[in-house]
Amino acid sequence: MKAIHTRSQQRILTLLKTTKKGISAQEIYVELRSLNQNMGLATVYRSLETLKLEGLVQMRRLGNGEALYSLTKQDKHHLTCLQCGTSVTINQCPAHGLEEQLQEKHNFKIFYHTLEFFGLCQKCHSLEG
Ligand SMILES: [Zn+2]
Ligand SMILES: [Zn+2]
Repeated sequence: MKAIHTRSQQRILTLLKTTKKGISAQEIYVELRSLNQNMGLATVYRSLETLKLEGLVQMRRLGNGEALYSLTKQDKHHLTCLQCGTSVTINQCPAHGLEEQLQEKHNFKIFYHTLEFFGLCQKCHSLEG
């Protein structure tokens, strides 16, 4: 079953396809504006919320509380520095077998998972050193 999307949702999906890493709702708003696809910030949030519940968009929160959105297809994981907020993408994923197991065992439809490691990046812990 394919969900029918509003024009706003489609624009956001198209934009997210072209962005390599997660971006905030504010950045989406600015980005769409620069493409002459003006959309109110409230509409951006509303559309993101709908897409999130459909499992098409995932959200992750940085240490500073900022929410970043990306397409769920990108199974990317991160090392996040608690001090400067640097976020490094890691490409390994140990969780795929587990995801299938959980799906089956709990009859739970899993759209995506997140895996994030927190600590201090090299720059920050060498300053402390
Ligand atoms: Zn750092
Ligand atoms: Zn994964």
